[in-house]
Parts: sequence; structure tokens; C-alpha cells
Amino acid sequence: MSHDPSLDLPDAEYGFATLGIRHAELRSAEREHSPSMYLTSSFTFGSAAEAAAIFSGAQAGNIYGRFTNPTVQAFEQRLARLEGGESCVATASGMAAILTLVLTVMKAGDHLLVSNGLFGSTINLFNNYIAKLGIEVGYADLTDIESWRRGLQPNTRLLFIETPSNPLTEIADIAALAELAHAHGAQLAVDNCFLTPVFQQPLKLGADYIIHSATKFIDGQGRCLGGAIVGDAQRVGKDVFAFMRTAGPCLSPFNAWVFLKGLETLAVRMRAHEHNAMQIAQWLQQQPQVARVHYPGLPTHPQHELALRQQRGFGAIVSFDVHGGREAAWKLIDGTRLCSITANLGDTRTTITHPATTTHGRITAEARAKAGIGESLVRLSIGLEDAVDLINDLQRAMRSL
Ligand SMILES: *Cc1c(COP(=O)(O)O)cnc(C)c1O
Repeated sequence: MSHDPSLDLPDAEYGFATLGIRHAELRSAEREHSPSMYLTSSFTFGSAAEAAAIFSGAQAGNIYGRFTNPTVQAFEQRLARLEGGESCVATASGMAAILTLVLTVMKAGDHLLVSNGLFGSTINLFNNYIAKLGIEVGYADLTDIESWRRGLQPNTRLLFIETPSNPLTEIADIAALAELAHAHGAQLAVDNCFLTPVFQQPLKLGADYIIHSATKFIDGQGRCLGGAIVGDAQRVGKDVFAFMRTAGPCLSPFNAWVFLKGLETLAVRMRAHEHNAMQIAQWLQQQPQVARVHYPGLPTHPQHELALRQQRGFGAIVSFDVHGGREAAWKLIDGTRLCSITANLGDTRTTITHPATTTHGRITAEARAKAGIGESLVRLSIGLEDAVDLINDLQRAMRSL
């Protein structure tokens, strides 16, 4: 008699929260309830013949940690399921996921078309490293489909976007961009770090690949770095995996275990983050020291209607411009006590950042201007503290302006 939970829960019967907790459960002969961490770099074989069979692919089995690891695979299968994808390849960081995808999909002579408002390191990676491999990099305005149409070239192979963008929370129409890419024989990759599959499932809107920095909300407590690529069984399960197992930007099983546990609470955490973020965005809008609030949940957000259509929630990132430029922004940041001054986001702790001099400080002033990131901009990643305490903290800091 066996009473093991199914390792592959059928879609129709279970909701998102259940899948986040129960899908791809890992259970060894010890019958542990919480999944085990397989901290081993290699695996053993019963005989020379079995080793040969597993190496040749004739028989399934683990060989070496750069190829597969049961804890990493459990995380990959669960995240793939939550995103509605067939396959997932986990990586050492979010940046490793982007690098892995671009090196798998693109070759010299191809054109990569990306949105203006990208994460600072992503812009750096494309401009300084991908471009020198003979891959052309072009830019389009995230929210303007005509700008994407104009940016397409006969050799455009991949469109890459972040939506909502960091730090301005601009929103791209994923379905429209997927259609444009496919009509042109190109593919669309979406960085889904800000919303996670709880609030947005880009594959279901037509995207070909999802990128994650698991470092952010998937961990959710600011402990580990990791990333992932999600997509179909051929292009991700076979092609991206083949690059990953050879090149080696793989995820450690320890971090995979932390993320697997993170997925169990992702749905409740994201809703709690959003609940706080909405209250703080509304409060910020009423402050005389604040010039403008960027949050897709506000009716004043330029793509609020699109957000309602495309997303199931608005997320935890709230940015705002203060009156008084860099001086006022820094004073406000320094005036908080509860918010952490740190570049990370997606933590239980609320973080506060000055993007122009930190996360986006290493890109050129011109690229920053193109992305619309001014000196007066402050970014909050709203955590899970009591909203009233966060508002009191910001209020105190505002009074110093
Ligand atoms: C943090 C982040 C990344 C990079 O992820 P790392 O895990 O830090 O390498 C990529 N995209 C977005 C939107 C991010 O916030």
C-alpha cells in the first residue's frame, strides 16, 4: 500500500496555491515530508554496464551535478508547472539565465531587439558582452508597438522585454509583441521577475521564453541567488539544457531547495506584498513632496488598463519622483529607519533604492535618460511588514524634505 502524493498533479483539478506546494514533490525511501537536499556533485552506478547505459542515454539516471540533480529538478518542474510551461532550466543567477538563453538562441550576425527600460546589468550584458560576439543589439520603446515594428530587421532573432519594467513599472503588451515577433520569424523572451507566475503567465500570452531571477520573489527572503528559463520541451528542455550542461552556469542544490520551499508560499506572499504596495502607492500620491508615483495598480498609471487585462495583480514595486532632484531623493532615503537601503528586491523587508546612482549607475547617462530614470526617482520594493509602519517611516522621512 502506498500513500505517496502524485508527482504530477493534473492541471484541471488543482489551483495555483496547491501546485506551488504539492507539484513535483520529492520523496526518498526515508519518506521525509519536507523535500531533501541532494548535496552531491556526482552519482554512482550499479555496474560498468549501467554507467555506460546511463551515459549513452539508453537508460535514465543522474550522472553529474552539472547535468541534473533531484533537488534542482524538483524546483524546475514545479516552476515550469506554475508558469504553464513544459520545461524549465535553473541557473546560478538571473543574469546567468539571460546569458544562457541568448547564447543558446543567437549566433553572430543575428539581431537582438530589446526594450529600453531594462534592468541595469541586463543592459550592460547586452551592450558590452553580447554585442562583441557579433550579435547586433537594438532598442525599442517598451510600450510602443510601432517602435518595435520599426526596430525589426531581417536578421532579428529574439525580442527581449521586462514587464513591468524596473524601476518605472512600464508595461508591454505581451500578446501583441509575441504576434509581431512570430510574424517576423523571431521569438519573444519575457523577464517575469517582478510579477512571478502568481500575477502573470507570459507563455499563455504567446511568449516563447520566460526568464526569472529566483533571487527576488521566488526566494522571497533575500537569501540565495538563482535564476531560471521556462519554455517548451524542445527549445528549453533540449536546447537550453544542452547549453547549460556543457557551459555550466547551473544552480546549486542548496539554493534550489530554498527556492522550492519559496514556491510553497509564493501565492500568499505575492498577495500580501501587493496589499501593502497598493496602500503605500495611494498614500504616496497624496504627499506634496511627491511629484509622481509609478505603480500599475493606480488608475493614473499610463498602462493601467493593459495591466488589468494582462495581469492578475500589480506586484510589489512602487517607484516615485520627489521634488528637488538627487538631493531630495537621497535625503528621503537617508531619513527612513525601517526601509533597508539595498539594491535587492522581492524580500520580506521593504527596500529603498536610488536607481540612478545604484542599480542603473553603471549604464551611460544617455541610456539612463532613454530609460526615463531621473535623479529624483526612488524605488521601493514593498515587503511584508505592517503597511501602517511603512507609511509612518516614509512620513517621517518626507518631513525632512
Ligand atoms: C535582479 C534582476 C535580474 C538579475 O538577477 P540576478 O539573480 O541578480 O542575477 C534580472 N532581471 C530583473 C528584472 C531583476 O530584477
